[in-house]
Amino acid sequence: MARYIESVCKICRREGMKLFFKAERCYTDKCAFERRSYAPGQHGQARGKVSEYALQLREKQKVKRVYGLLEKQFERTFEDAERAKGITGENLVSLLERRLDNAVYRLGFGGCRTEARLFVTHGFFRVNGKRVNIPSYRIKANDVITVAESKKSNAKIAENLKAVERHGVPEWLSLDKDNLKGTVVRLPRRDDTTLPMHEQLIVELYSK
Ligand code: SF4
Repeated sequence: MARYIESVCKICRREGMKLFFKAERCYTDKCAFERRSYAPGQHGQARGKVSEYALQLREKQKVKRVYGLLEKQFERTFEDAERAKGITGENLVSLLERRLDNAVYRLGFGGCRTEARLFVTHGFFRVNGKRVNIPSYRIKANDVITVAESKKSNAKIAENLKAVERHGVPEWLSLDKDNLKGTVVRLPRRDDTTLPMHEQLIVELYSK
């Protein structure tokens, strides 16, 4: 499957914020954004006038990359958000948060979303007892996510869970660390995301 291959640290620097693509490293002084908190490239430190369209595009690219989606996947998620009842921008955030790879990350099983996606594709998790290896799988309220029996002794998951306090488990999920089990208490809402996001800019972009 095609994936985004640019250095992910450059994305943080371009967006002017830490987006936590690299698990452990993001919390150390090796973090590229901590060392150079300006945009990459020759003109990275120059400030120019930014058009409204550029702002909208930038926001969409940021959110798309944080959740690890390609363009088409992101567009499809946006279309689902438009079709759902309620405010499109808020629906979009909720749908992105409901991805299985995101839930695995937010429960602390994965050190970052990229690692969580890898674990999911390798069949590390069960949803309501069934093997699910699709990162975009959309979880529902009351779903139970468990680590597969054969992966319960995985050292990386144990290490990640020890550090779960770094980003904390959101209110819409509950974690049973001892039994390597997470429950979806309710569907995520707009304010459940920790990512600084201006979803209205994305809605405006797709409304053109
Ligand atoms: Fe972003 Fe993490 Fe790289 Fe820092 S180390 S720039 S937070 S991906």
